[in-house]
Amino acid sequence: MATIALDPRLDKKTSDFIAQKHRMYIDGKFVNAASGKTLSVYNPATGEVMAQVPEAEAVDVDQAVRAARRAFDEGPWTKMSPSQRGRLILKLADLMEQHLEELAEIESMDNGKPVSVARVADVPLAVDLFRYMAGWATKIMGHTFPISFPGEYLSYTLREPIGVVGQIIPWNFPLLMAAWKLGPALAAGCTVVLKLAEQTPLSGLRLAELIHEAGFPEGVVNVLTGFGEGAGAPLAAHDLVDKIAFTGSTEVGRLIVHAAAGNLKKVSLELGGKSPAIIFPDADLERAIPGTASAIFFNHGQCCCAGSRLFAHESIFDRVVEGVSDIASKIRVGNGLDPHTEMGPLVSEEQFEKVTGYINSGLSEGAKATAGGKKAADRGYFVQPTVLTRTTPEMKVVKEEIFGPVVCAVPFTDTDLDRIAREANDTPYGLAASVWTRDISIANKMAKRIRSGTVWINCHNVFDAALPFGGYKQSGWGREMGSEVLNNYTEVKAVTTAL
Ligand code: NAP
Ligand code: MG
Repeated sequence: MATIALDPRLDKKTSDFIAQKHRMYIDGKFVNAASGKTLSVYNPATGEVMAQVPEAEAVDVDQAVRAARRAFDEGPWTKMSPSQRGRLILKLADLMEQHLEELAEIESMDNGKPVSVARVADVPLAVDLFRYMAGWATKIMGHTFPISFPGEYLSYTLREPIGVVGQIIPWNFPLLMAAWKLGPALAAGCTVVLKLAEQTPLSGLRLAELIHEAGFPEGVVNVLTGFGEGAGAPLAAHDLVDKIAFTGSTEVGRLIVHAAAGNLKKVSLELGGKSPAIIFPDADLERAIPGTASAIFFNHGQCCCAGSRLFAHESIFDRVVEGVSDIASKIRVGNGLDPHTEMGPLVSEEQFEKVTGYINSGLSEGAKATAGGKKAADRGYFVQPTVLTRTTPEMKVVKEEIFGPVVCAVPFTDTDLDRIAREANDTPYGLAASVWTRDISIANKMAKRIRSGTVWINCHNVFDAALPFGGYKQSGWGREMGSEVLNNYTEVKAVTTAL
């Protein structure tokens, strides 16, 4: 068990939860891993171990999948009315809202993000997502079809839950990613086995307690903690799982696709990005400069849609770089529990090594840091918000997803929108982009030319439960949120009656 003293700034409820003996949630019960093994959970602000959680392996995954299978095939879940399912999801949202402060503190301790951010973003967005999806439970429906086959027929479609769903999520928005996955699956009537990220399992385990308290029937939601290879891989490969939904790296996304091939389970993927933010010379720089700074520095750049390539027209490039660098150097980096902190530590030592490695590789290849460029403290995983200029298109910092607070600023001279779009699209990813201009015609022409699942105009990182989100190209398959996500969790059945 963890022995370290928890931060005195925490509410007692939060400290008690973090210090408790953690168990996974399988078939309506809180259980240890069958092997009894645990894995350590670190506080990224100090690098110290603060908790142990069970380390699920194939045998635990199998138990959870069988529980979800029973709940789907025999259990009360699929026989419940859509309205009853919707009400349970609403009850969960209410419980989360009642525990908002505690969930925000857990998220800050586990992920490192400022508690002030988790309080206004992560937790309320997760609550909102569940409420929005609860509304869909009663509105998932088919169509009727006038068919031309000779004779008289009545044809209609049924939209049915896909079945048992495996879900694997990352550590950047632990609670919100759990909500994005669970909300639509439950609204559609599926049962779920959710594997949390090894770095950030705590808010998901607290959510499991609230799911239990809300009264979801046994086996409908199962929540596992464990490593990707030990628990994620057997979940993705399991023959009794009908569908796997994954958010994380493109590299692991490919492994998921291979693992799913055995029983050809359905797959949806939300993967990496290298999103462009493009500032035209006529843009309102009073908005575009803070907007593009926040596009990269929000959540420490640990966003799949982070605006990590900043393109600015040469006539305004110096002003943009100066403005964004000025903001970067003034961001208060510190412990997420400090109310003045604007940026916390990166999530893990591994991410810290990865991000500082990218910065060093850029600098050694000739890039210049106009802000940051170094680690930001002697302990914990803090990195300075960094702006790189004088990059070339071949550099790793420009080509690869860094997933940290590092932006590459690149000037453009072109006025031809096709050529600007070609440069913006010159990446295997296609998750998001932002365009900054006062000219609505340029803005919408660019929106059409950019190959990505989201284009923001004069804003970045605007999310809503009603808006579909997902990737073109290697940024993924399928969409999260909105009505679109329901396609991930339903099958369509065409029924035809000869009259
Ligand atoms: P990752 O390895 O793709 O992890 C995402 C999830 O997949 C975690 O739950 C992970 O478990 C699990 N996983 C890992 N290997 C697996 C396997 N073979 N089969 C099934 N599941 C597996 O991402 P990461 O290592 O946390 O971060 C690496 C990079 O991924 C980041 O630097 C960033 O570029 C990208 N990333 C993207 C997003 C996004 O939102 N698109 C989010 C996070 C990271 P563990 O927790 O045990 O690893
Ligand atoms: Mg990993």
